[in-house]
Amino acid sequence: MASTTETTGESVDTRSATTTTQAWSEPGESPLLLLLGSNQDPLSERGVECPGALPEPSDPDLVARALAAKEKLGDRLFILGHHYQREEVIQFADTTGDSFKLAQQAAARPEAEFIVFCGVHFMAESADILTNDDQQVILPDLAAGCSMADMARLDQVEAAWEVLTRLGIADTTIPVSYMNSSADIKSFTGRNGGTICTSSNAAKSLEWAFEQGERVLFLPDQHLGRNTAVRDMGFSLDDCAVFNPRKPNGGLTDDELRNAKMILWKGHCSVHGRFSPDSIDELRNEIPDINIMVHPECKYEVVSKSDYVGSTERIIKQVSEAAPGSAWAIGTELNLVRRLALQNPDKRIMFLDKTVCFCSTMNRIDLPHLVWSLENLAEGRVMNTITVDPETSKWAKVALERMLALPG
Ligand code: SF4
Repeated sequence: MASTTETTGESVDTRSATTTTQAWSEPGESPLLLLLGSNQDPLSERGVECPGALPEPSDPDLVARALAAKEKLGDRLFILGHHYQREEVIQFADTTGDSFKLAQQAAARPEAEFIVFCGVHFMAESADILTNDDQQVILPDLAAGCSMADMARLDQVEAAWEVLTRLGIADTTIPVSYMNSSADIKSFTGRNGGTICTSSNAAKSLEWAFEQGERVLFLPDQHLGRNTAVRDMGFSLDDCAVFNPRKPNGGLTDDELRNAKMILWKGHCSVHGRFSPDSIDELRNEIPDINIMVHPECKYEVVSKSDYVGSTERIIKQVSEAAPGSAWAIGTELNLVRRLALQNPDKRIMFLDKTVCFCSTMNRIDLPHLVWSLENLAEGRVMNTITVDPETSKWAKVALERMLALPG
């Protein structure tokens, strides 16, 4: 595992289950409570620990407490807020942005001793990779992971690479990994001659990769890979093959692997992957002049029916610059869409799909966790640090730097 945290504690096996029929009784303390971040989850890869008491969410002084701790820490502290964070948290961010912009912002603040990352685990890892050794990156709740990043584990990716090696095509395959991946996967990418991409520069990263080799292994988001390859690069859907790490040979024949231009890892975002083409049809029937804009992590069928597709930064720009009175349905995380609606009262802005929810892991960073981490810092206790080991960090940085060197 690439990251280390301060997590310690006794193991409790919560997996045991009984098959005997029992009378219903009032449940005791549920193991799920552990996932709220006030204790430990021994089954979680990330660990879930917030030593000491978390403030009560109902505490009316939470805002004042966060401000006081922030003021006490002054320039030693820099708070980053991802666009998908809750309003109650983002109000304290010194800067907001997508994951890559935030990692760059952290690196541009060498005077800040503590980088508090209001986002998810892989983002804090990237910030640790790009900042200097004197800076500490803190994730207010260690349970804030990313289901997409977790869909590509290093052992699975190495096994897939062995398949390509056996077929004699690893040498001509270039790994391209989305920013939304663990430090382990970024490191694998760097070691094997590949690059990182964001949702803004995926086409440029793929162009570079096809100058280096004959095919791409795209990790971990199949939708971003497919959308970019087909919509921006002129490949066909048949040029793309989905590699399922749970099946032998990825569920593909040797020839399918040899002939694919894009080998897409079978991963997806559990938020963006839920938008459906039906909701676009319904909205167009209801509001004929509506503009549909979605993130490229959405499925190909959804992206193909939309008027615009773009990264979070592009969505924000497009909506901000849109004509007053125009109507927009946005397919991205709900916290951002709500914020866009608040910031653009002269436009009609709505969420694309009634059944899609917030990103549950992004939402784990709430005000009590932020206050908890800031107050601990102000008292000299550094909690929930995210540290990527030097070897992983070295190769992950190689992959990130290849992306930075791409033409602007
Ligand atoms: S919105 Fe999707 S990609 Fe982003 S953190 Fe949540 S699960 Fe991961």
